[in-house]
Amino acid sequence: MIYGAIEAGGTKMVCAIGTADGQLLSEATFATKEPAETTREMVAFFQEKKIKALGIGSFGPVDLNPASPTYGHLLETPKLAWRYFDFAGTLQRALAVPVGIDTDVNAACLGEMIYGCAQGLKNVIYLTVGTGIGAGVAVDGKLLHGMLHPEAGHILLEPHPEDSYPGNCPYHKRCLEGMASGPAIAERWGAKAVDLHDQPKVWEIESYYIGQALVNYILVLSPEKIILGGGVMKQTQLFPLVRRQVARLINGYLKTKELKDLDNYIVPNSLKDRQGILGALELAKRVC
Ligand code: ADP
Ligand code: ZN
Repeated sequence: MIYGAIEAGGTKMVCAIGTADGQLLSEATFATKEPAETTREMVAFFQEKKIKALGIGSFGPVDLNPASPTYGHLLETPKLAWRYFDFAGTLQRALAVPVGIDTDVNAACLGEMIYGCAQGLKNVIYLTVGTGIGAGVAVDGKLLHGMLHPEAGHILLEPHPEDSYPGNCPYHKRCLEGMASGPAIAERWGAKAVDLHDQPKVWEIESYYIGQALVNYILVLSPEKIILGGGVMKQTQLFPLVRRQVARLINGYLKTKELKDLDNYIVPNSLKDRQGILGALELAKRVC
């Protein structure tokens, strides 16, 4: 049995087909242009490949409530051409197969739970720190949606005492995304994050924000593992700094086996950036 998967991002759409045990057989990437054209390209890729179902891990916000008349539609995305686009429905009609959809970060979280470092766990957070910041959350083995879906990149934070950067989130200024995304780093320091690798202050401040966010997630959701991905986390020196901030802020209040072993609690993604597409493949399997 062959399944289809789409990792839908604001700049590119990764499409793949794969087997039920997670072997990816063929893959293609299309630029995210306007929906009609990009959908046509994706449909052409999947057509004739005899997929049984399609899974989509999508940028958001996206309506994930199956009872809603706009289930599977994109909502108030800053990608204006895609706003209110019936993403799941358009592909379902074009390919005549069931379509499962979730957020890109929930798909990545699922990918890690099925194929990666979170196998066997039921309470997992996957945080991406890239152009934006978002978290996929699994609670008791289920991906968390709630009234919409978590928007954990927009939580509010205490500014670092030496940081005068005002934040770049159009809605909240100094939320996590406004202070710690790749573009926020670039604007604060006047250089791309990747070129700031050897500037310790950059990563101290970055870890101060990510650490605060993780502590808030830990206190509310009690995850068994936290996985950090996205372009900014390619700066692997961040991991020990983030763990140190988490330990400092928890301040001994919680004493769990997980928190005693932060090196295995706060970890990089484990699937070489295939977690999103593999999670989307799993979404396809689950919709059959
Ligand atoms: P997106 O979030 O757009 O899907 P990424 O997760 O790759 O894609 O995030 C892109 C952001 O991450 C950009 O702001 C970029 O500057 C930053 N970035 C990408 N690679 C690195 C790197 N090696 N080190 C630091 N920052 C990086
Ligand atoms: Zn915000």
